[in-house]
Amino acid sequence: MARYTGAVCRLCRRENKKLFLKGERCYTDKCAVSRRASVPGQHGKARKKISEYGTQMRAKQQARRYYGVLESQFRKYFEMAENKPGMTGENLLRICESRLDNVVYRLGFAASRKEARQLVRHNHFTVNGKKANIPSILLKAGDVVAVSSKSEKIKSVVEAMSARPVAKWLECDKQNMTGKVVELPNREDIDLDVEEHMIVELYSK
Ligand code: SF4
Repeated sequence: MARYTGAVCRLCRRENKKLFLKGERCYTDKCAVSRRASVPGQHGKARKKISEYGTQMRAKQQARRYYGVLESQFRKYFEMAENKPGMTGENLLRICESRLDNVVYRLGFAASRKEARQLVRHNHFTVNGKKANIPSILLKAGDVVAVSSKSEKIKSVVEAMSARPVAKWLECDKQNMTGKVVELPNREDIDLDVEEHMIVELYSK
């Protein structure tokens, strides 16, 4: 299962935007975007005029990096989004939001999507009572995610639960360490600062 293993703050600096990939650190003044706002690399400080294609590409890269999804998987999500009724851009974001690692993060069981992904891979969650260790599983309304009984005392989960909010399209029972997908989110429920129509324009070329 391929994933990006390089420095994640570099990704935020490339997008010149906080993508919140590192949990608590992202909210402190240690954040690399706050400290060094230039694009990484030798020519990072040079101001370049960005083309229309460049703008579309940046929108796609931001969304992809935000969810920690590689290009081929993201493209697959786009094709799925195109085949669903409604607006393709919104469908695309909804599909990304319904990934198990994202739902674990949105339920407040992890400080970042990266951490959520690792917890899922290490068998710390179940879906509808069954073992689920694939971060890309797509959940639907009514699905129940639970912290496995042997994992209830994991420090990072307990700490994240006391610090992180729960997305309004989800329901979390903190006492029993379970969460439910009430409904898949609408665009206004997704706090992703990206113009998804740019992604649609890019992939529709
Ligand atoms: Fe991005 Fe977080 Fe690193 Fe800041 S601390 S650059 S928001 S990953």
